[in-house]
Amino acid sequence: MTQYSAARTTFADRHIGPSPDDQARMLAVLGYSDVEALVGDAVPDAIRTDRPLDLPPALDEAAALRRLRELAGRNQVLTSMIGLGYHGTLTPGVILRNVLENPGWYTAYTPYQPEISQGRLEALLNFQTVVSDLTGLPVSGASMLDEGTAAAEAMALAHRVSRRKDPGAFLIDADVLPQTIEVVRTRAEPLGIEVVVADLAGGLVDGDFFGVLLQYPGAGGVVRDLAPIAGQAHERGAQVVVAADLLALTLLTPPGEFGADVVVGSAQRFGVPYGFGGPHAGYLAVREGIQRQLPGRLVGVSVDADGRPAYRLALQTREQHIRREKATSNICTAQVLLAVMAGMYAVYHGPEGLTEIARRVHAHARALAAGLRDGGVEVVHEHFFDTVLARVPGRAAEVVAAAAERGVNLWLADADHVGISCSETTVPDHLTAVWAAFGITGTDPGRWLTGGGSGSLDGLPADLHRDSPFLTHPVFHEHRSETAMLRYLRRLQDRDIALDRSMIPLGSCTMKLNATTEMEPITWPEFADIHPFAPLDQARGYLELIGELEDWLAEITGYARVSVQPNAGSQGELAGLLAIRGYHVSRGEEHRDVCLIPSSAHGTNAASAVMAGMRVVVVACDEAGNIDVDDLHAKVDKHRDTLSAIMVTYPSTHGVYEETITEVCATVHAAGGQVYVDGANLNALVGLARPGEFGSDVSHLNLHKTFCIPHGGGGPGVGPIGVREHLAPFLPGHPLRAEAGPETGPGPISAAPWGSAGILPIPWAYIAMMGPDGLRQATEGAILAANYVARRLAPHYPILYTGRAGLVAHECIADLRKLTKETGITAEDVAKRLIDYGFHAPTLSFPVAGTLMIEPTESEDLTELDRFCDAMIAIRREIEQVASGEYDRDDNPLKNAPHTADHLLTDDWKHAYGRAEAAYPLPSLREAKYWPPVRRIDQAHGDRNLVCSCPPPESFED
Ligand SMILES: *Cc1c(COP(=O)(O)O)cnc(C)c1O
Repeated sequence: MTQYSAARTTFADRHIGPSPDDQARMLAVLGYSDVEALVGDAVPDAIRTDRPLDLPPALDEAAALRRLRELAGRNQVLTSMIGLGYHGTLTPGVILRNVLENPGWYTAYTPYQPEISQGRLEALLNFQTVVSDLTGLPVSGASMLDEGTAAAEAMALAHRVSRRKDPGAFLIDADVLPQTIEVVRTRAEPLGIEVVVADLAGGLVDGDFFGVLLQYPGAGGVVRDLAPIAGQAHERGAQVVVAADLLALTLLTPPGEFGADVVVGSAQRFGVPYGFGGPHAGYLAVREGIQRQLPGRLVGVSVDADGRPAYRLALQTREQHIRREKATSNICTAQVLLAVMAGMYAVYHGPEGLTEIARRVHAHARALAAGLRDGGVEVVHEHFFDTVLARVPGRAAEVVAAAAERGVNLWLADADHVGISCSETTVPDHLTAVWAAFGITGTDPGRWLTGGGSGSLDGLPADLHRDSPFLTHPVFHEHRSETAMLRYLRRLQDRDIALDRSMIPLGSCTMKLNATTEMEPITWPEFADIHPFAPLDQARGYLELIGELEDWLAEITGYARVSVQPNAGSQGELAGLLAIRGYHVSRGEEHRDVCLIPSSAHGTNAASAVMAGMRVVVVACDEAGNIDVDDLHAKVDKHRDTLSAIMVTYPSTHGVYEETITEVCATVHAAGGQVYVDGANLNALVGLARPGEFGSDVSHLNLHKTFCIPHGGGGPGVGPIGVREHLAPFLPGHPLRAEAGPETGPGPISAAPWGSAGILPIPWAYIAMMGPDGLRQATEGAILAANYVARRLAPHYPILYTGRAGLVAHECIADLRKLTKETGITAEDVAKRLIDYGFHAPTLSFPVAGTLMIEPTESEDLTELDRFCDAMIAIRREIEQVASGEYDRDDNPLKNAPHTADHLLTDDWKHAYGRAEAAYPLPSLREAKYWPPVRRIDQAHGDRNLVCSCPPPESFED
């Protein structure tokens, strides 16, 4: 009988790439007989837990889906007309299936390697163009985490650009979304910025202000001419920030035309489901002159080695990974996948389609208001776009309850007012139900919905009708049929390398499997179609799922409490540092404001510390890559009285388990400081050690790293924090949902009560299906894979740091610096050459310049690990050919990488090496070859000539 290897029966068997036989082979290469021995040598005893994970036993995939169906069934999907920045939307099926449900899009990484990211960069440029055109401002980024944090970023931006000595306060109109006001307050407090909230309907109030935030249309629906107040604000030297609704801007004069300096908002209603709060793409656009102050990521146009237009991230020197504590913001992971969806929604509908949708929404709101007035209900505002505010003295709660009984959620503004918001999903029956809730019956919506429901704009002030064109670029006109759209999405997808093509060995980013079963539930209507402010009895399944996930994460990390509200690791960092700050303040020690950060830390750490009102003091690392304990003691002594916290990444960003971590924690505690362990590297700890047990007080986790939320091309992410008991009172809360967190905390860190709740089924499913043993095995697998790769590469590239027994943790750093000195070949050349071999590069020059950091994860099987190692080793031989003079130092396959088909097919090939050598350096590439769409991109050119919206098609002609 044929001998097969053991069948893979559990989910963990499928999640973990190498088979038991392959693992044995890998262990043999490392000289170990079993994985426990390897892990025993790699992981310091001081941090090892003696308590196995106390989690429910693993469910198989079918059982996990059944349980998720049960939880989904406990959510109740009503028609939400609540508004407050979240609106019903119809995701075109072609976008739902081919973007949101498509691993070609959702498993991609942030486009730091632009040559293999042209598809998503084009999609993001479309998004930026949509935002820029609709807001009337020239430069938009891609993207912000949500509307609330976008407004907070705008406040910080306005504060930076105000050149006055005493800049004054930040003024917010009372008609701004309530959650936005509170998110801004959370961010303002540690920065010492005073926030003034006032009713600005009658004009600016007295006082000194560096910035003013207005909502357009207002939270209560009103559409007002904001030009006068913008003018008054400018006269006083304040920046004008407008939070605007993109759909309304198809009909209304854009803020850029009445003087806004910054426009922020959400692109949610462009085809992105509610998801009980997110993820959605926030946006931020700025006027000419302050684009270098823009927070977050910005896509721009540059040229490749042939001078052809090519896209890449622009002005990166503003960002946290370069400028650290001087960065424009701490944003790292953003909302790329959702920005892609919103941009594609605009591509599919075009300006005429969006306008038609907006007119229909407005027509329904007008009809709704007419019916209310006709029934004797007072409508507060004469001018509105989609939201009608009804005044029903003393009856508001009763009306809202009556509407819910008819299947419609309304907004209980206060005891006397009800808000009703129309959307793309509103149909005449909804109007009938709303009227009935107000006690108005027998009214036919058809009476007011004439002309197919998209008639006049007479609910909008006549002098605010938009007359400027938008979305004139051909991309917004060429993809109207579903076939055309399908092919456009496919064309862009094919330009990129995502996990569906090959392994993405990015150190610190944990690009592991995002299993299909984990992804399935997120588009079920019971999870996707719940408004973030729907009554909680309609979200019972969500609350149960979130409660279980929080408990499981607490068990995994050893913390007492977890909050899932932060929308990315960076936001978790800020939330965690604010918890530390709140703790010190509660003990009368508000003067503690020094945050120690090792030099090897991720840039977000320093940027977050500054946002939390702390002063950053850098702690040196020694030659082995560990925290220099002498320097730590010196810095602690020096700042003993003002020490607030230390932020350490564990295992370190150098990919080693530092032996001294418990000493580091004890030293800081002894001086009255708190310990923040950056949990981005938790994939090296789960099941083996718990930060909450080995001395840390608070950590963020990146659910988009360790817990399988896909990176989406640069987001979404979720960055929950875990805290020990004494910090629990200082977790984030929410103004509209007391259940989301304590009132004693810093306030909301995200706009939605449970952040990006819509994607929490992914980590839930991962943990449920792996079970306690599977989770530990995944960690062991990650350590095994990293050490296997390190061992295979070590004869060819020096491996920079190792810990005990010469082992690394879950990633390793290949040092190119000596080779660069000898041959001129840089780590970047290797990164680009890997593209010719079909791979995404490892992390380039972080945490050490001139190196490549490789994190294989447990999910890659041995064949793929070897394919990658073979590519790296083959590249090493090419470097040798440069060293020996066989290849020219400047004209060789490394310097010219990546090679496009176009470049290779030229009639006059002038290079000193052959075309086959360029394209097929390994025979296996003839079977499966990725062809990059552009040659190497000139980064500097694009920063000198900043173009951040779609370039005209002619620029692509020869
Ligand atoms: C990814 C990462 C972060 C930032 O997390 P985001 O989710 O991208 O905001 C912080 N620290 C480390 C070590 C990381 O790897």
